[in-house]
Amino acid sequence: MEGCIFCKIVQREIPAQVVYEDEVILAFRDVNPVAPVHVLIIPKEHIAGVLSLNQEHSEIIKGIWLVIPKLAQELGIADRGFRVVVNSGPAAGQSVPHLHFHLLGGRAFSWPPG
Ligand code: 5GP
Ligand code: ZN
Repeated sequence: MEGCIFCKIVQREIPAQVVYEDEVILAFRDVNPVAPVHVLIIPKEHIAGVLSLNQEHSEIIKGIWLVIPKLAQELGIADRGFRVVVNSGPAAGQSVPHLHFHLLGGRAFSWPPG
């Protein structure tokens, strides 16, 4: 998708610290981390957000959820605990219109979130 910053990361037009990649998924460190470990997991295909998901995306979403526990283990945040966040729309603070899962760990998180 032209002009999409995460599509540019997928295309390697913008550099990123990639921590995982397969044919359909890319995971990289957030440029502005809010936790000691802050990784974004995205589909390589441009999907605007959770509201754009449909049955055709089921394999991609399954793949992302199976990568998350692997990454949590590899990044050393599994035992203490971690959080997965997907923001949708302005009230939740979604700032990049390309579906992304935040994987956050390395500190305690409050609940409910602010
Ligand atoms: P959102 O606010 O949409 O849920 O999350 C977008 C995230 O993307 C933010 O945490 C922001 O720091 C991150 N981000 C925005 N632009 C870039 C970039 O160019 N590179 C990386 N690695 N992260 C980015
Ligand atoms: Zn995109």
